[in-house]
Amino acid sequence: MNNHTATLSNLAAIDAAHHLHPFSDMGKLNASGTRIIERGEGVFIYDSAGKKYLDAFAGLWCVNIGYGRPEMAAAVARQMTELPYYNAFFGTTTPPATLLAQKMTAHAGPNMNHVFFTNSGSEATDTWFRMARVYWKAQGHPTKTHVIARRNGYHGSTVAGASLGGMTWMHEQGNLPIDGISHIGQPYWYAEGGDLSPEEFGLKAARELEARIDELGEENVAAFVAEPIQGAGGVIVPPQTYWPEIARICKARNILLISDEVISGFGRLGSWFGYQHFGFEPDMAPVAKGLSSGYLPIGGVLVSDRVAQVMISEVGDFNHGFTYSGHPVCAAAALENLRIIEDEGLVERVRDDIGPYFRKGWESLLSHELVGEAVSVGLMGGLQIAADKTIRKRFDQPDDVGMLVRNHCLENGLVMRATGDRMLASPPLTISRGEVDQIIETLRKGLDHLRDTRGV
Ligand code: PMP
Repeated sequence: MNNHTATLSNLAAIDAAHHLHPFSDMGKLNASGTRIIERGEGVFIYDSAGKKYLDAFAGLWCVNIGYGRPEMAAAVARQMTELPYYNAFFGTTTPPATLLAQKMTAHAGPNMNHVFFTNSGSEATDTWFRMARVYWKAQGHPTKTHVIARRNGYHGSTVAGASLGGMTWMHEQGNLPIDGISHIGQPYWYAEGGDLSPEEFGLKAARELEARIDELGEENVAAFVAEPIQGAGGVIVPPQTYWPEIARICKARNILLISDEVISGFGRLGSWFGYQHFGFEPDMAPVAKGLSSGYLPIGGVLVSDRVAQVMISEVGDFNHGFTYSGHPVCAAAALENLRIIEDEGLVERVRDDIGPYFRKGWESLLSHELVGEAVSVGLMGGLQIAADKTIRKRFDQPDDVGMLVRNHCLENGLVMRATGDRMLASPPLTISRGEVDQIIETLRKGLDHLRDTRGV
């Protein structure tokens, strides 16, 4: 036994002894043991037992260019050698940080010309949250501080992120949400649309925002935040009427519109950013994940001219920032990642080729008796498991059914995610047609397994 295998055989025990995992029940995890992922190549990952999985989740919605790209390693090594660290405080910058800001904004639309760098999506949330309040104060509206978000939304795990997120099970830990935040409903037609058509329900869900602003008083509301498609909440694709109405309301009531692009940015929906797919213009847009395809941690906030001009001309010092804001090595990784996305035409590939192919396969699962809805945009798919699809009836224990299908997929070499009774897919943008077929076939077998186990 060499040192490497000796360490590996102990790794699960060492992990149980020392490592507290995110979003995990540590008692249960220590009893069952962690899976140790050792290697990745393309859309596949390999665990320490040598088992191969197709990662239909791209890590955590982030490995857009796929695993194991030597160009990424080379770009990072070059920057490490040249300058491993310097900050963007005190009037300095580094070439990768500045060039990355330029490249990101080049794809963000005519009114999005600035970036504030962070290390994660959560920090990006905290950043726009403070910036929105600073913006309004500088504009002579110090009472415009309240932020409206949505039930079942996800914006991160920091205190502001978890407060803005609409997960009550997160609020219960740590006395959240903090003051000045409230939530409206989500545009989840399948579960909450009742007898309304999706289009009618989309308008109804959007108008909850108008009602909430009026209740709070426009003079007290700074911003509304939402993901273009709710990701962690279950890949909830809003009805077509939803986003235009939200954009109209934000404009009419003069509140900032924040599009959380942490998942939908950098090609996932077949557009550079989700707001472009849905045809609206946000005032700020937090990003992370696909910015570096997860190879190194980096995030940021895209800031519109409207907000940036005030920050530049009226605010003076913005007393906010991170030691690693614009970290040169992370920025070099992001630059190389964006070069790959551009040179390989991955955004267009998702829009015109592999996205439509994925959708066809995904929608073919609608023929399964347990599938009530199969929606996708680009390479982001949500599949609703239903007890009786003819009347949109869900199972009584939604978490159990999703987990059963997810575990069956895992046993059969496919990494999927379940949110309650919805199955989520978000594979690397480089996935081949054959690999898409593999996702669909394995998921179909997982659904058969649920049917057979449940006796339905
Ligand atoms: N916003 C959205 C929409 C997300 O999905 C996530 C992470 N899943 C975050 C913010 C937080 O990002 P991070 O985990 O990098 O802090």
